[in-house]
Amino acid sequence: MTESPRPTLRCSFVGLGAMGEPMARHLAARGMLTAVWNRTSAKAQALAAELDVAAPEALSDVALLSDLVFVCVSADADVRAVIAALRPGLRRGSIVVDTSTVSRQTAIDLAADLAQIGVDFLDAPLTGGVEGARNGRLSVMVGGDEAVLDRAKAAFDAFSLRVTRMGPVGAGQATKAVNQVMIGGIAEGVCEALAFGEALGLPREPLLAVLTAGAANSWFLEKRGLSMLEGRFDSGFKLALLHKDLGIVQSMAAALGARLKSVDAAHADYTTLLAEGRGDDEISSLIRIKRRLFDVQG
Ligand code: NAP
Repeated sequence: MTESPRPTLRCSFVGLGAMGEPMARHLAARGMLTAVWNRTSAKAQALAAELDVAAPEALSDVALLSDLVFVCVSADADVRAVIAALRPGLRRGSIVVDTSTVSRQTAIDLAADLAQIGVDFLDAPLTGGVEGARNGRLSVMVGGDEAVLDRAKAAFDAFSLRVTRMGPVGAGQATKAVNQVMIGGIAEGVCEALAFGEALGLPREPLLAVLTAGAANSWFLEKRGLSMLEGRFDSGFKLALLHKDLGIVQSMAAALGARLKSVDAAHADYTTLLAEGRGDDEISSLIRIKRRLFDVQG
């Protein structure tokens, strides 16, 4: 006997920023999106009209229209506020998936709270950048029950190249913290090296061509090398968000009695850029700080 296909999940998306908007579009392309919501509601209204989905004013109404709600907002307090507002409309058996980068404790607290009303929760932070969100090739690190992920998997597949269950609730955020140690360290190394190359008077294009073909290549060098040398910092991963992530990593390391030197150095550099009002710049704006090592004002 053949198994009957699962009914299509009715998904909604909360938080239509650089990551959320393209992810919502991929869900719509698979016929899985029923509603969107964004704090600045004009953005939700415009996307809803384009994709022919609902854009209720109240988050509780978004929840009522959904079997699964994806959340992708900035920081811990934002996720907590959004889920508190969704809560009255969530039905027993529905699933909330938080794809934002927040602390492991936030994930654990939210899962425990939602369990009281029979709602399942997955923490599912992302990596792959805005490019990965746009082309539907994100890598997602998931914390939560295997059976819940199994129910949600078709929706994840709409925007992911890889979906990896890392363990119970919180394990996704713990994995993301590991990822952010590398993101911070790679950006430090690449920005410092390219500022050094500039100071040595090396030609831009040949430098990038030879480096990206060799052992020092990285996603960050490939995607951000040229734009940072050209002084373009207007799209990608906002440095205020990486600063937030590195703070999370510092707290997690401190709980283990450790300090991570590369994380402390990167956090200090982004603190300087934030104080200069550059929080909305892409993280490659870090090259401004590195140029100062060579007495060049960035
Ligand atoms: P973004 O472009 O700055 O968008 C942030 C979104 O969160 C916007 O929709 C914003 O609404 C909403 N928001 C912020 N505070 C809110 C609040 N209190 N209540 C409701 N909504 C709120 O950020 P992003 O790049 O999409 O990043 C979103 C999350 O993904 C962050 O946790 C980030 O660390 C993580 N992430 C980002 C990348 C990347 O490369 N960009 C990669 C992996 C993970 P408004 O439109 O009203 O401002």
